[in-house]
Amino acid sequence: MPELPEVEIVKQSLNKKIKGKIIQKVSVKNRNLRFKLDKNFEKKIKNKKIVQINRFSKYIILKFDDNSGFIIHLGMSGTIHLMNKNIKNIFTNSSFYHSPNLPKKHNHIVIEFEKKKLIYNDPRRFGYFLIFKNKEELKKRFIHFGPEPFSNNFNSNYIYDYFKNKKKNIKNFLIDQRFVSGIGNIYASEILFFCKINPSKKVKYLSFNDCKKIFYFSKLVLKKAIEKGGSSIRDFKNISGNQGKFQKNFKVYQRENLNCLKSGCKGVIKKKIISNRSSFFCNICQK
Ligand SMILES: [Zn+2]
Repeated sequence: MPELPEVEIVKQSLNKKIKGKIIQKVSVKNRNLRFKLDKNFEKKIKNKKIVQINRFSKYIILKFDDNSGFIIHLGMSGTIHLMNKNIKNIFTNSSFYHSPNLPKKHNHIVIEFEKKKLIYNDPRRFGYFLIFKNKEELKKRFIHFGPEPFSNNFNSNYIYDYFKNKKKNIKNFLIDQRFVSGIGNIYASEILFFCKINPSKKVKYLSFNDCKKIFYFSKLVLKKAIEKGGSSIRDFKNISGNQGKFQKNFKVYQRENLNCLKSGCKGVIKKKIISNRSSFFCNICQK
């Protein structure tokens, strides 16, 4: 499942390839995504010019010049492929996960520009496209979301105040989008490793200093992951022929039973299911 860094890579690819382009044709092969596609989706986006492509959390936001636009959420298995209409490109995937080339099946939405085609592929159909009419509607969509790790509203004081008297464990909060937007299962484990905090620790027992670490390493881990092009779980390449390399930097994620990578630590990485999701942590240095 793509997390913030992977979605950021998709956004960057789209920015390079389709910003400023006018949508000439839209064809929908399957409207039954996680939320049923707006019945006038084709009409609403046709002939519109894409003037801005942003990202909030794990959502890509495409804006037209009249302030309307649409949001894309990739769900569990959604990928966006960009193809040239005239010259065949080797790699079409705008990110680094799943197939680098367009699969034959599960291509649900095709958006055509003068020279390019954007194709949305999603075998499990947990992703979706959502139209918004104006700025207000867009803002409303994200009203219940907490700040992104990179926002000024996400800071040590915010974290410390938020955790006061709360009974759940830290892992729970890191992947709770109401607390912070964009962190998922992979990066939550990585962040807690750097903080030396056990994922099962109840947040009400965290000190202000712990909160400072959570603030600092949330930003750092995500920033590093974006710089490395996100994480490819397999060695796939994207549209530019590059690979996501962050998976080579994983300290704990999917390293069960391997030695802890913190220098001097004799610990072993353990896997534990917390709130139905696997958490990876060192049994010695994460307390
Ligand atoms: Zn350790």
